[in-house]
Amino acid sequence: MMLECAVIGGGPAGLNAALVLGRSRRKMIMFDDNKPRNAVTSESHGFITRDGIHPQEFKRIAEEELSKYPGVTIEKQRVLQINKENHLFQVKTENGDVYFARKIILATGFKEVLPDISRVKEFYGKSLFSCPFCDGWELRDRSLAVIANNQKAFHMAKMVSNWTNDLIVCTNGSNALSLEEQQLLKSKGININEKKIASVVGEAGILEKIQFDDGSAVLREGGFITAEWVQAATFESSLGYTLNEQGGIETDNWQRTNVEGVFACGDSRIPGPSQLIIAAAEGSMAAMAVNAALIEEKFNGNKEQS
Ligand SMILES: Cc1cc2nc3c(=O)[nH]c(=O)nc-3n(C[C@H](O)[C@H](O)[C@H](O)COP(=O)(O)OP(=O)(O)OC[C@H]3O[C@@H](n4cnc5c(N)ncnc54)[C@H](O)[C@@H]3O)c2cc1C
Repeated sequence: MMLECAVIGGGPAGLNAALVLGRSRRKMIMFDDNKPRNAVTSESHGFITRDGIHPQEFKRIAEEELSKYPGVTIEKQRVLQINKENHLFQVKTENGDVYFARKIILATGFKEVLPDISRVKEFYGKSLFSCPFCDGWELRDRSLAVIANNQKAFHMAKMVSNWTNDLIVCTNGSNALSLEEQQLLKSKGININEKKIASVVGEAGILEKIQFDDGSAVLREGGFITAEWVQAATFESSLGYTLNEQGGIETDNWQRTNVEGVFACGDSRIPGPSQLIIAAAEGSMAAMAVNAALIEEKFNGNKEQS
């Protein structure tokens, strides 16, 4: 099947790209295997008109809106391979289907790699989070911890102190904070605990305490944790687009990668704490750029074909 654009990923970035392409009368498919980063949480915050919405309800409303546009198809399956053949992209899916597209938008997101702390996954997205702008308000004035064993500890501690005065930084056995940083944090009433963490403890995802290797514990109701991020997309590709130092797909301001015809938006471009509204805005921008490129080709011809 020949498409004007294939969007890979159906989170806010891909959904908004599909909306703008659909409204631009483009024939496109958005492929999505529905494994978004925020699957672990039941509320998304900070998207005006949708503050507090369940992530799957956000997706349901978006897909309902997309159903108005005849050019938009949603394929709930994983893309396994993308290759460029002459001026077209060949997209292969897990069901063995093969599609050809003139443009590709990568909206595949990131995945977190949480620190190796016992039971931490039970709490992530319920009382332990990675982005204070997303979840700081819900944890305001509580007894909180920043769990970070790397150079992000100082920055995260300063950030989270905006939402509570009862804060402990747990460096999990590392000396992630310099003496100057420790002094500055302490001068602002922030405690520091450098002991190795044995486990996080609580019920139904709600943190109660942090247990240390030496048998001691500190009572905490929630907190923020620094994670590592890796690309969620695991498809094979000979496209060869450039990644930046943080592992995000490099683009210009129009979401264009260095590979002609390939665009990227959302978390896959910005590794780290991000937001639905930023991903959606980038999806919109990528779709406008795709549309602009297709219009240019209509009037000036495809440079790659000539
Ligand atoms: C615990 C937690 C809480 C958060 N809370 C908030 C919040 O309150 N407010 C907020 O604004 N943001 C929040 N975020 C951040 C937010 O989830 C992300 O910024 C946002 O989801 C990024 O959107 P995206 O479209 O780039 O990627 P995603 O939402 O991750 O979507 C990517 C999609 O692409 C699909 N995909 C990947 N590879 C393929 C493939 N090969 N084939 C087919 N499909 C594929 C995935 O299955 C997924 O559905 C939170 C994140 C986490 C982890």
